[in-house]
Amino acid sequence: MRALLVEDEPTLAAQVRAALEDAGLAVDHASDGAQAHVMGGTETYDVVVLDLGLPALDGLSVLKRWRAEGIGMPVLILTARDSWTDKVEGIDAGADDYLAKPFQMPELMARVRALIRRAHGFASSILEVGNLSLDTRRAQLLRDGRPVALTSHEYRVIAYLMHHPGKVVSQADLVEHIYAQDFDRDSNTIEVFIGRLRRKLGADRIETVRGLGYRLRED
Ligand code: CA
Repeated sequence: MRALLVEDEPTLAAQVRAALEDAGLAVDHASDGAQAHVMGGTETYDVVVLDLGLPALDGLSVLKRWRAEGIGMPVLILTARDSWTDKVEGIDAGADDYLAKPFQMPELMARVRALIRRAHGFASSILEVGNLSLDTRRAQLLRDGRPVALTSHEYRVIAYLMHHPGKVVSQADLVEHIYAQDFDRDSNTIEVFIGRLRRKLGADRIETVRGLGYRLRED
C-alpha cells in the first residue's frame, strides 16, 4: 500500500512519514498544495494524509480539485484544533476522515488503517486468507499463527495481495502500490519478491496467471 503525505511542517512531516513507513506503507511526501495536486493526479495512492494549511495551494482546494477530476482515493485531512468549519468544509469537499492538530500518532495511524481497509471492504484490522493472517496494526504476517520474517518490500507485496484475495493482480499494479515515487522501480524485482514469498509461505500460495499477473489463493 502506498500513501501520499501532504504536510509543510518538516518535523511533523518526518514523524508522520516514519509512522506510515513503520505501518508497512510506501510514502511520498509533498510540502505544498500545488505539488500535492499534481502527485495525486499522476501517481496511485491507497490513502492520503492532507494538511489544510499549505503554501501554494491550500489543502481544501487540493481536495476539491481532485474530487472534481474524479480522483477518489481515501483522504484524511489534518485540521486546525477546534475549527469545526474546517471539518465541515473538508467533509463536504470529499474528505473521508479528519483529525485535529495536535494529534497522537497512534490515533492517526488507526484512522489511516481504517480508511485503507474500508476502501477494500474489510471490517477488521486482521485480514485472514487461508492459513495466512495479516495483522495490519503490527504490520505483521502470520502463517499458521506464527510470524513470518519479511523485508519491507516483501511485506508490501503480500499486504497488497492480502487486500485482493482471489483476484489477479498485475505486476504493474504491484509496482504502483509498493514503491515510493523516488524509488528506482524495476518490475523484474517483483518476480524476485514473489519468489521469496513463495519460499516463505508455501510454493502454491501465490499463483502466476500467465500474461496477467499473480493471484493469492484463498483456500
Ligand atoms: Ca500546515
